[in-house]
Amino acid sequence: MSPSFDPRDLTYPAGHFLDGALVSGPDQIAVHAPSDGRVLSDIPLADASMVDRAVQSAKKAQVESGWASQRPRERLKALSAWADLIEAEALPLAQLEAASSPRPVTDALKNDVAVVAEQIRFFAEFADKSCDALVPTADSQIGFVASEPYGVVGAITAWNVPLALAGWKLAPALAAGNAVVLKPSEMTPFSTLYLAELAVRAGLPKGLFNVVLGDGATTGSALVSHPDIGKVSFTGSTRAGIEVMTTAARSGLKPVTLELGGKSPQVVFADADIELAAQCITRTILSNAGQGCVAGSRVLVQDSVADQLSERIAALMDLATPGPTWDAETTYSPIISDRQLNRIDEIVSAARHAGAEIQCGGTRFDHEGSFYKPTLIRKVSSDSPALLEEIFGPVLTVQTFSDEDEAAEMARHPVYGLCAGLFTRDLSRAMRMIRRLEAGTVWVNRYGRSRDHILPTGGWKSSGIGQDLGKEAYRANRRIKSVLIDL
Ligand code: NDP
Repeated sequence: MSPSFDPRDLTYPAGHFLDGALVSGPDQIAVHAPSDGRVLSDIPLADASMVDRAVQSAKKAQVESGWASQRPRERLKALSAWADLIEAEALPLAQLEAASSPRPVTDALKNDVAVVAEQIRFFAEFADKSCDALVPTADSQIGFVASEPYGVVGAITAWNVPLALAGWKLAPALAAGNAVVLKPSEMTPFSTLYLAELAVRAGLPKGLFNVVLGDGATTGSALVSHPDIGKVSFTGSTRAGIEVMTTAARSGLKPVTLELGGKSPQVVFADADIELAAQCITRTILSNAGQGCVAGSRVLVQDSVADQLSERIAALMDLATPGPTWDAETTYSPIISDRQLNRIDEIVSAARHAGAEIQCGGTRFDHEGSFYKPTLIRKVSSDSPALLEEIFGPVLTVQTFSDEDEAAEMARHPVYGLCAGLFTRDLSRAMRMIRRLEAGTVWVNRYGRSRDHILPTGGWKSSGIGQDLGKEAYRANRRIKSVLIDL
């Protein structure tokens, strides 16, 4: 069956999700479809008292259901049942994702929904297989390092890939025995709400996963500062991450996991497979129209192959065809909002006026909705915002280097260190460069995560603190207790 849909036909869940049911409130926020700007639904905004209700309900559910104290295998079984139901309900989930976010429905179905179910199963396996450690002591003593859940984790997600980000937060936190209160971006609440409904239908205790709707200033900060939140897990901009960390520190010194912004380099040496590099670079900047934290938006290429690579990328970019997210054929996303579209255009225009060469794109599509042409900028000055700022749009800069030293120096960003791509056939060079790149993730002769979920993801410098995915994410959702017993 085709996943195409008419956004007028969907029923949008439009309330907070507390104790297993939608809770309405005075509607205060209109949620738009980025494809054509139409209003899909109005949603309420949770004030501090609604956030308190959600946190108290989650705290009660976590304790009274025995979520953390029962045999861990019961958590695994419950989470697996949820993953099964997510797969069974993949189509409505993908459609709700596609309606308000930039995700084309086919991408949402094949990637995002599938990945969320996989991640829930992946982390569920940790519940009954992660062991605490006995430590060496004198025979008259027993010492061990135990770990326990935090209680209620407060999670906040961005709008660019809402379902996948919810999976990153929920799966390890719940598997580790916590309850979760999650605030999705006010622009993209629907798929997260449906995920919460499916959790209850699959048999997870009511209240274990609650959703509060609202903006960052009111709802997000009330969640982060709530005294009964044990840990905060946030994905969003570096600016908001700093606010979240400050609020978390001021309200009980809560631990934080922060997945933040990036301006990641993709470094191409002359000995690389240039066609492979062009395909990878283009695919990643066109994915979600560049609205991705890992978008490798700074291409650094060795002088002798710079023209060849740029021409090939520009040719591939020209193939992008925009379409509404609800059309199964669409592969090129709209920009989330007019505000974001204008910001992209301003940065590109500023680069043009400062003398940069726009090899392709550089304008909006002449098309209904907010679509921006894939854009490749060359000869950009070193102080240009196009080179320094996270654009969060389909815009690449291409700069050239002559040798490894220059490549390593240019790859270094003054603020960010999220990830980096490297293209070379020389293994020794790859190993030397891996050591020199300031990034939490390095991909060689590829760009992007695999679906194994075992490799952690997290940023260096102002790109974040802590990791999502991998066993690191499971551990980060439990706190350590050292025990020493005199026998
Ligand atoms: P924002 O930082 O604007 O918002 C992220 C979330 O935080 C939203 O739910 C927002 O609420 C909320 N928020 C904003 N301010 C606060 C605050 N003071 N206290 C609590 N919550 C707050 O990011 P965007 O939604 O615009 O997402 C884009 C950003 O996310 C980019 O920088 C991107 O790099 C980053 N990102 C990072 C990823 C990673 O893994 N490193 C993955 C995906 C995205 P609301 O918007 O509803 O007001």
